[in-house]
Amino acid sequence: MTILASGSKGNATVIAAGSTRLLVDAGMSCRELMKRMKLVGEDPRSLNAILITHEHVDHVAGLSVLARRLKIPVFFTESTHRAWMRMLSPGATMSYAQWLEKVRRQKLESAPPAEDVTQPAEAASSRKERYERSSLPEVEYFRAGQSFAVGEIDVMPFTTPHDAVDPCGFVFQARRESIRMAIATDLGYVPPNVKMALRGVDVLLLESNHDLEMLKDGPYPWSVKQRVLSRVGHLSNAAAAEFLEHDYDGGAHTIVLGHLSEQNNLPELARLAAEQAIGRRRSLLGNRVLLASQHLPLEPITL
Ligand SMILES: [Zn+2]
Ligand SMILES: [Zn+2]
Repeated sequence: MTILASGSKGNATVIAAGSTRLLVDAGMSCRELMKRMKLVGEDPRSLNAILITHEHVDHVAGLSVLARRLKIPVFFTESTHRAWMRMLSPGATMSYAQWLEKVRRQKLESAPPAEDVTQPAEAASSRKERYERSSLPEVEYFRAGQSFAVGEIDVMPFTTPHDAVDPCGFVFQARRESIRMAIATDLGYVPPNVKMALRGVDVLLLESNHDLEMLKDGPYPWSVKQRVLSRVGHLSNAAAAEFLEHDYDGGAHTIVLGHLSEQNNLPELARLAAEQAIGRRRSLLGNRVLLASQHLPLEPITL
C-alpha cells in the first residue's frame, strides 16, 4: 500500500500485489498524481485499473484525465458513476475546499445562498465538452458486498455511512499471499458491516478526521460542523480510537490514520488518541501506527 495523498484536498492510494497495481481514488490533478507516483517509484503506466470509493471531488478530481491518459478501466458502483457524471455538469466542479470557502464567504456577506455558482467560462462549456470530460476508456461496475477480481487482487467493497450516493470502502486480498489490506475513510461512524469487513486485515488505512474540540471551536460554519459530525460525515479521532479499543481484532501489522482535517485536527492528537487506545489493549502493542499526509506520499508499506 502506497498512500499518495489523504485528506479533504485529495485522496489516492496504490495497492499492489504481484504484477497487479490498482489506484484507489484519483482525488488530485492528473499531473500531481503522476508526480507523486514518480516520487515513490511507482510507474503510472503499470497501473491496471482505478477504483473509486465515492464521487466527492477529493476522490475524483483527476479521474477522467488520468484514466484517459493511461487508457485503463475505472471501477465504480453504478450509482457512483452516475453521480460522478452529473457532477461534471457545469457549475458543480468546485473542490471541497472551494465549497467551504464559498460557504464561509456567503456567511460573511450574509447573502442568500447562490443557487447557481456557474462561472461564465463554465457556462459556455458545451454538451460535447461535458461529454468528453465524462468519457472514460472503460467503465466496470461493482456492488458493495460482492467481491470481484482485478488481476491478482481480490477486492471486497463494503458500504460506508457517508453523504455520497453509494460510498464504499475496500478490502484487498493478494490472491497468492493471503495478505489483506483495507481502506476505510469517509465514514460518519463504524457500523457493524464495517467492523466485520475490517477483521483480519494486515494493513488498515483508517480515517481519523477531526478532534471534536477543535471542530467545535474551529472556523467552519455551523452547518458544515453538523455535516462533519453527523452519522454520514467523517470519523473523529475519538471514534477511531473507540473502534481500535473495542471492535478491532488487533491483527494488523500497520494502522495508518488518514483523511486528517487540516483545520480541525493535529497529527499529534490523532496519533495520541490511537496509541492510547492501542495501549489499553496489551495484545495490540505490536501494531505500528503511521499518519498519512495531504501534502506528501507516505513511504510504501510492504508486507
Ligand atoms: Zn474524502
Ligand atoms: Zn467524502
